[in-house]
Amino acid sequence: MHTHALVLFSGGQDSATALAWALDRYTRVETIGFDYGQRHRVELDCRTQFLDKLRASFPQWAERLGDDHLLDLGLLGQVSDTALTAERAIDFNASGLPNTFVPGRNLIFFTFAAAVAYRRGLSVLVGGMCETDYSGYPDCRDDTLKSLQVTLGLGLDQRVVIETPLMWLDKAQTWQLAHRLGGDALVALITEETHTCYLGDRHTRHAWGYGCGTCPACELRARGHARYAASNG
Ligand code: ZN
Repeated sequence: MHTHALVLFSGGQDSATALAWALDRYTRVETIGFDYGQRHRVELDCRTQFLDKLRASFPQWAERLGDDHLLDLGLLGQVSDTALTAERAIDFNASGLPNTFVPGRNLIFFTFAAAVAYRRGLSVLVGGMCETDYSGYPDCRDDTLKSLQVTLGLGLDQRVVIETPLMWLDKAQTWQLAHRLGGDALVALITEETHTCYLGDRHTRHAWGYGCGTCPACELRARGHARYAASNG
């Protein structure tokens, strides 16, 4: 019944893994990304590169992988003043949230994704959100997204399923999932072509990919990869 999916694909490690999960599971998969004035456009560039190379390296998935939709959500810049959209240092506010936090961002993304999915005849929305992540974004939590699934289904008057395959995985387990889905080739593709670093560094290559190596996002990715490599080697 629910065989057609739309994946929220940012160009990062988590959403890339979620995309592979969806391609393994659904007969038709489309992708959606959001341009909201990210300080560095490298993530958006990584999206295109990753999709091109995924198609080339995994012909069985290329057959299922349909259109990519990129929506301009530049107006988000008007409601956020954070390290994602302005030149400010990465630090943490009193609630423990990094100032890269765009309030309620995923609620907005999923709502736009649901509208596109409705038009495209896709009943499943897939995202790489994860509650075990250090950052504690409240709009990434399982309860938030389950509640949103119900709301979107009511508002569109048709069943909407939100799937978040990484919700309870840590970063090492996310690498393991990628390996289970696409072997060393997928792990290599995610390492090389996805982007995590808050500072937009695509020059310094580590075992886990490109990044400054010191921002919170790089540290998380590096730690997860080290534990994955230790358990696989
Ligand atoms: Zn970094």
